[in-house]
Amino acid sequence: MKYLRFDDGGLPRFGRLEGGVVTPLDDAPWAGGEDAGTPRPYEGLTLLPPVPPGGKILCIGRNYFAHAKELGNEVPVEPLVFLKPATSFLPHGGTVLLPPESERVDFEGELALVIGRRARRVGPEAYRDVVFGVTPALDITARDLQKKDGQWWRAKGFDTFCPCGPVVESGLDASDLSLRTILDGEVKQDGRTSRMIFDLPTLVSWVSQAMTLEPGDLLLTGTPEGVGPLAGGQRLELEIEGLPRLSVRVAREA
Ligand code: MG
Repeated sequence: MKYLRFDDGGLPRFGRLEGGVVTPLDDAPWAGGEDAGTPRPYEGLTLLPPVPPGGKILCIGRNYFAHAKELGNEVPVEPLVFLKPATSFLPHGGTVLLPPESERVDFEGELALVIGRRARRVGPEAYRDVVFGVTPALDITARDLQKKDGQWWRAKGFDTFCPCGPVVESGLDASDLSLRTILDGEVKQDGRTSRMIFDLPTLVSWVSQAMTLEPGDLLLTGTPEGVGPLAGGQRLELEIEGLPRLSVRVAREA
C-alpha cells in the first residue's frame, strides 16, 4: 500500500494512494490512521515529505563496498551513522538549492526505511515489527565541506538536502531492489539494495542500541557507487523498484 502526505488547504494530511486517487487519513498510517474525508485525484495535490518533520533523520554512510572504495575510504567494520536535520526535508517536485558555501554538491540515491513502532535495543529479528515501509531519499552532500569540517552537520544538513517521497510503500520486501539515480535523463547510479555491507535488519538493530527509534523516524541506508556533482538547472531523479520515482530540480541558491 502507498501512503503520502499533502497540503490540504494549509493543513498537513496523510493519505492513501490507490489507482491515482488519494483517500485522506485521520492519522499517520503507522499509527492506525483510518479513512477520513473525500477522496481526491493524486494529480494536482501539493505533496509534502511523506513523514512529518518531528522525527529523526538517521543516515548510514559507506554502506556499499563499491561506494566506499570510489571515495577512497576503508570499508567500515561497524555501521557509520549520522543525522540530518528535519529542515533538510524536501518534497517530491521541490528544488535542491546549491549553497554558495560549497563548490561541490553531490547526489546520493538511497533507500530509506520509515519506522512504524517505538524500538529500543532490539535485535535484527525485530525488523518486520519495527519498520513500517520504505521510501526513496536523496542524501545530498556538500563533498568539499564534508572533508573540510570534520563533523558532517553542514555538509549533509543544508536546507533541501533530504528530498524524499513521493510515497511510503508498506509491505514491500526491500532486501533486493534495484536503485537508480538519474541526472538529466542519464543513469548515474545503478545498484541493488542486496549489495549493502550491513543489511537492513542489522542497521535497525544497530541504531536502536544507541537511541530509541520512534514512529515516523527515517533511516537512510547508504548509497551505491556512482555519486557525482550537481549543477543548477538539472533534474535529479531516484527510481527504486516497486516505488514511484522521486524527482526534484536543482538550482543555485540566490
Ligand atoms: Mg549517503
